[in-house]
Amino acid sequence: MMIRTLLALAALLFAVPAAQAGSERSGELEWSIIIHGGAGVIERGAMDAETEAAYRAALQAALELGGNLLSGGADGVDVVEAVIRVLEDDPKFNAGRGAVFTSEGRVELDASIMAGHSRAAGAVAGVTGVRHPISLARAVMEHSPHVMLIGDGAENFAAERELETAEQSFFFTERRWQAMERQVERMGLPVPPRPEGAPDPEPIREGALDLMEREHRFGTVGVVVMDTHGVTVAGTSTGGTTAKRWGRVGDTPIIGAGTWADRRCGLSATGTGEYFIRFNVAAAICHEANRLMFEQHSFEEAAQIAADRMMETLEADGGDGGIVMLFVGQPIWAMNTPGMYRASWGLGREPYVAIYGDE
Ligand code: ASP
Repeated sequence: MMIRTLLALAALLFAVPAAQAGSERSGELEWSIIIHGGAGVIERGAMDAETEAAYRAALQAALELGGNLLSGGADGVDVVEAVIRVLEDDPKFNAGRGAVFTSEGRVELDASIMAGHSRAAGAVAGVTGVRHPISLARAVMEHSPHVMLIGDGAENFAAERELETAEQSFFFTERRWQAMERQVERMGLPVPPRPEGAPDPEPIREGALDLMEREHRFGTVGVVVMDTHGVTVAGTSTGGTTAKRWGRVGDTPIIGAGTWADRRCGLSATGTGEYFIRFNVAAAICHEANRLMFEQHSFEEAAQIAADRMMETLEADGGDGGIVMLFVGQPIWAMNTPGMYRASWGLGREPYVAIYGDE
């Protein structure tokens, strides 16, 4: 017990400078990044080699962008925004372009960002005409007295801030459209008209739709970084769930549920948003990791235990998905699905890109 207490005290002494002022490793300031691109039933053999390679390449490129910015001393908020903007423009992910459709046939986008040193946060929900919802979330954090804006109000604020707009047709992808068509038919709802300006229908392999339904039930993107000043920042962006109705909003824009950052911990989640809201997943894991830090031998152990326990709790209740987090810069991921698109890198570590649970 005595030893544990001493270890915890030593951990705390080390943690504070790491989380406040940036710590050094062989003369260089530490930085760290972890990314996810959604979790789900992503299993070996279910994806063709070309598709798998494209996902890995996209994750690698996002990782390199973020890592190079961080190692050059960039600010954590700038890096989270820059990396998520790239993922929002990539039609493979369910955020920005390539987002899923509501049962009314449009995209409604959610995003949030939080900076750990100040607990400043910004979020938007149900946005339909802004190209980069993460930039709007950042604008809410930095240029409004509020934390969360929704719908038309959020769009008006985006216009005031002169953020880039986009037509619904910009976000359009055929496979997302057909996945929504399938889903509304199952729900016994009418298929909505295609958005104005969308390209003519084109055939999609039935198998590809099946795969997408399983792997992309969740396809949110999230980025957590610790910059060279020791500041942890987390951000998440999504189109939500296929064929959602009634202005449904998931966990992604809810601070504490889908996104969280404090002095030591940053987390971005993906999965069945309703569960992540009810269990306040992002904040609860970070609080538990901060508490366990005094009982465990390492930061990594504390964070992994906290994350794994929460994913088990969710699973027992019927919620699935995954999280990526940094705890004092240590990359941690946890999921209760077979796969999650993810990647991490940091000073003194090799880049890591993975899809399946056993990687
Ligand atoms: N968590 C998101 C939501 O419920 C979905 C996802 O992660 O893909 O809106």
